[in-house]
Amino acid sequence: MASHMCCVVPPYLLDALCECSDPELREMAASTLAFGQTIQDERHEFSQGGFTDTATDHHDDDTPGPAQGIVPDYLLESIGGSGEDPELQKADRAAADAEGLSEAGMVASQSGFFREVYDMEHSAADTQLPGKPRRAEGDGPHSDPAVNEVYDNALKVLLFYQKYFNLTSVDNNNMKIVSSVHYGSRVTNAWWHHNQMKYGDGIPGKLGHYTNALDVIGHEITHGVTQFHSQIKYNGESGALNEHISDVFGIMVKQIADNTTADKADWLLGETCFMPDIKGVGLRNMLHPGTAWTRAKVTVMEGDDVQPDHYSKIAGILKNDPDGVKRDHGGVHYFSGIPNRAFALSATRFGGFSYEKAGKIWWTAVTAKEGSNPPTYRIPSTCTFAQFADVTVEVAKELFPNSGADQVVRTAWNDVGVQVKAH
Ligand SMILES: [Zn+2]
Repeated sequence: MASHMCCVVPPYLLDALCECSDPELREMAASTLAFGQTIQDERHEFSQGGFTDTATDHHDDDTPGPAQGIVPDYLLESIGGSGEDPELQKADRAAADAEGLSEAGMVASQSGFFREVYDMEHSAADTQLPGKPRRAEGDGPHSDPAVNEVYDNALKVLLFYQKYFNLTSVDNNNMKIVSSVHYGSRVTNAWWHHNQMKYGDGIPGKLGHYTNALDVIGHEITHGVTQFHSQIKYNGESGALNEHISDVFGIMVKQIADNTTADKADWLLGETCFMPDIKGVGLRNMLHPGTAWTRAKVTVMEGDDVQPDHYSKIAGILKNDPDGVKRDHGGVHYFSGIPNRAFALSATRFGGFSYEKAGKIWWTAVTAKEGSNPPTYRIPSTCTFAQFADVTVEVAKELFPNSGADQVVRTAWNDVGVQVKAH
């Protein structure tokens, strides 16, 4: 299974920033693009079987691994080890979670999550990952606000997955959540890479502050979840679905934390990443793709948000911007706007919170297996939008029979130009 290099700020947005009138932003965007390219060149492939090992020691053999981990393995095993009854663990965690997301910090150490936050001290050398240890599970706040922000936000995401999707960690096997802040110098992006998160600082007041963006952290952690609980390839249409899934679960965490129902939500991903100096409204608009950073709103930038809101627009983008699409793994951040709108329309029309129906349908579609000897994922590795749409409609019927839920989902896909076959 591939260890994806997934960033939250896509190359096309960095390209646009390279053209903007602000010299500081231009320089930052150019250096971020260069870092992204380096990371892409270094991409490592991991097999599913070797993944657990690489999660705790993901370095090349000749480089030091994070053996300096603050929480030793024996302690991790004693807290949530495999020798314990999984049902009992689940009950303990449910009890610990009873206080809900807002009380997250109070229950962390009893809930079986293992967070570690490191400081790269502005190095971008991946051989030095994760960096200097700053805060591990159960430690009190650190003097560096970025450390505390990722520590707190990661827990909110983990509790979200535990509470609503019965997932006890990214791999459902006690995987540590490792975050490195202050990654690189003059870097404005956040990544899921080498089975951990990395956060560049951005430019204060303009673009960045990813450590404080709950939806961005939800997006990145979801890349890990997708990696362990589906087989979706990170390229082309299936890659756009991979990005879409991260947006869907990232936005749901934010909506729950904000206590916002689907019809009241703004559906902006990364809205806190564009700061007043830029005047963009967010990295992406899931309900209205292509409107997050129009020329009118992003005064210092040239060009418009490139995300299409309809399947029929893909051909034109492939024709007009083939290089941009190619650099974006076949358009993973371009075309994710199409399924994003299908999800946002479904959730809005269902009413209530997004996780209640649309979220459950999407989760099942992504993670469910069928058949035997051995069971296989319902979503193939090279899943197209149409194949994914079919499964979501099937699942809607299975989870919410005789309620018209399948018709809501079918109509939403039709509205973005993806035809669902008759069931
Ligand atoms: Zn992503």
